[in-house]
Amino acid sequence: MAVAREDVLDALRQIKHPEESQDIIRLDMVKDLTIEDGRASFTVVVKDPDSAFANQVEEACQRVLHEEVSRGLSVDVEVDSEMIPLGDDVMMGEGETMQQTSGEDGVQNTIAVASGKGGVGKSTVAVNLAMSLSEQGYEVALVDTDIYGPSIPKMMGMEGEKPRVNDERKMVPLEKHGIKTLSMGFMVDPDQAVVWRGPMVTKAVRQFLGDVDWGDIEYMILDLPPGTGDVQLTIVQTIPLTGAVIVSTPQDLALADARKGKAMFDNVNVPVVGMVENMAYFSPPDQPDRKYYLFGREGAHELARELDVPFLGEVPIQQEIRKSSDQGTPIVRSAPDSASTQAFAEIADQLTEQVALRNAEDDPTQKIEILYE
Ligand code: ADP
Repeated sequence: MAVAREDVLDALRQIKHPEESQDIIRLDMVKDLTIEDGRASFTVVVKDPDSAFANQVEEACQRVLHEEVSRGLSVDVEVDSEMIPLGDDVMMGEGETMQQTSGEDGVQNTIAVASGKGGVGKSTVAVNLAMSLSEQGYEVALVDTDIYGPSIPKMMGMEGEKPRVNDERKMVPLEKHGIKTLSMGFMVDPDQAVVWRGPMVTKAVRQFLGDVDWGDIEYMILDLPPGTGDVQLTIVQTIPLTGAVIVSTPQDLALADARKGKAMFDNVNVPVVGMVENMAYFSPPDQPDRKYYLFGREGAHELARELDVPFLGEVPIQQEIRKSSDQGTPIVRSAPDSASTQAFAEIADQLTEQVALRNAEDDPTQKIEILYE
C-alpha cells in the first residue's frame, strides 16, 4: 500500500493541543516520522507525560490516520516527554564533546540566518524574526556569529554591555526585549577576525558557545557572517543546525549569491528551511496599500521554486526598519502595527511551520562532523 507522507501529515494536523489551540504538527510535537510498507511510525513529544492530552494523543493519531488515510495502515505511535539538549551528540573532534547545556536545559531548534553577500539585511531579518517568534510566545535566543561586523548588540540596544559568568562558570546571555542574546563581538576584535581561517573560527565559536547557561530555548536564531566562504562553512559545521534561512534582495547579483548559499548548506547537509526576500518593495507612506517593486518582482520566489526551497515571505524597504535598528529597538517592537512587522510575523509563522515539518521527518539536530583540525 503506497501512503503519501503529505496525507499522513495532513491527517495529523487535525489533532489540536487543547491548551495551545494549535495542531501537533504546527507545535512541532511529531518527530521521527517514517512511512514504510503500509506502516507509519512516529513519536509524539509531550511536555507533561501525565496530562490528559498525553494519555489521549496516541488514540487520536490512530483514529485520524485510519479515518483520513487508510483503514489498513499500521500506526506505531510512541509518546515521549524528552527534550533534546543542543550539543548532546555533537562531535567536536579529538574525542571532545561540546557541553552546551546541562540538566533539564535544552535548545530545541537552531536556525542559521545566512546571505550570499553583505548588506542585504541578514542581521535585520535575524533580529526581527527572533522578535516575532518571541512575540508569538516562543522562548528565543539570538546569537551573533558575525565576527567581521557584529551588529546585533547595536540593533538590540545593548552596545557596551557584557555577559556575566555565573557560579558554575557559565556565561549568562544578556536578556533584552525578552530575548536571550550573545554576540561574538563580546569576545572577538573584528579587525583581527578578518585574517582568521577555519581552525581559529572553530576555536572561537566553541569557546563562545561551549559553556553558556541558555536555559530552555525553543528557537535559537544565529546570525552568520555574510558570504559563503571558509569561515561561514566552519561555523555551520561547528554548530548543530536544525536548518538555515537565506536572505536575499531582489537584484540578480544578490540572487546569484543566494544560490551559492544554498549550495553551501547542501554540502554540509543542513536543510534550507526557507528563503526571505528583503527590500522587496516600497510603499509610499501616504499610499500604504500600493507596492512598488523597484528591483523587479518574483525573482526570489522563482529562485526558491527552482532550488526547491520554501519561500517564507517578503519584507518591504521601509525607513523605519533602519531607524529602529539604529536606535536599538527592532521594528517588530517599536512599530507593532507596521507593514514590516506584519511581514516578519508571517515569515515567523512560515518558519515554524517549515521547522515542524522538517522535524517530523528528520532527526532534530544533525550530527556535525568537524572537518577542520
Ligand atoms: P547584513 O546583515 O546583510 O549586512 P543589515 O541587516 O546590517 O545587513 O542591513 C544593512 C542596512 O540596511 C542596515 O542599515 C539596515 O538597517 C538596513 N536595512 C535592512 N533591511 C531594510 C529594509 N527592509 N528597509 C530599510 N532598511 C533596511
